[in-house]
Amino acid sequence: MRIVCASANPHKVEELARMLPSWVDLAPRPSDIGDIDEDAPTLEGNAIIKAIEIANHASEWAIADDTGLEVVVLNGAPGVRSARFAGEHATDAENRALLLAKLEGVTNRSARFRTVVALVSSKGDIHFVGGECVGTIAEMERGDSGFGYDSLFIPIDGDGRTFAEMTASEKDAVSHRGRAISQLPELLARIFGLPTP
Ligand code: IMP
Repeated sequence: MRIVCASANPHKVEELARMLPSWVDLAPRPSDIGDIDEDAPTLEGNAIIKAIEIANHASEWAIADDTGLEVVVLNGAPGVRSARFAGEHATDAENRALLLAKLEGVTNRSARFRTVVALVSSKGDIHFVGGECVGTIAEMERGDSGFGYDSLFIPIDGDGRTFAEMTASEKDAVSHRGRAISQLPELLARIFGLPTP
């Protein structure tokens, strides 16, 4: 069973491939597809835009994900705009600096990461799985691993370390993306009529 991955990020492709059943052949994003505008107002919308574009282009099943960090006192921001929080071409460091500035002196630092994964066929089948990770935003950056907001996010299911202070497998075990991806084997088995893993 071949599924084309909408992400061009090799870390994401590798992470997905690791967690999918061995009968799934995860193909990389076709190189002749240009940038896809992620301008939907929701994570679900962006995931589906990407998956449909790839599925139609490749005439195959396609998979796409979208993730956002939702901070309670910011009414859910940056959310779907997490990658562009500090501006259209903002770096991860600029996004983190803006988040810390907005939370200066704020005691309620509750937040969650949310990931939505869309699995779409060129015939119009659409399936979603999702995962979330609740936690708090640290007062200052801690840790060197990971990416994005990892050095600021302390998951509630951890021991007080930020994601950036954890190993990749410790993060995968409690993370939004890990929780979403872990539902895929069962979904794929159901869609393709195979024994549930
Ligand atoms: P994307 O949808 O995976 O491209 O992520 C959107 C934004 O959320 C980007 O700014 C990422 O850096 C950030 N982000 C996504 N996943 C994570 C994560 O696991 N940890 C920290 N930041 C993340």
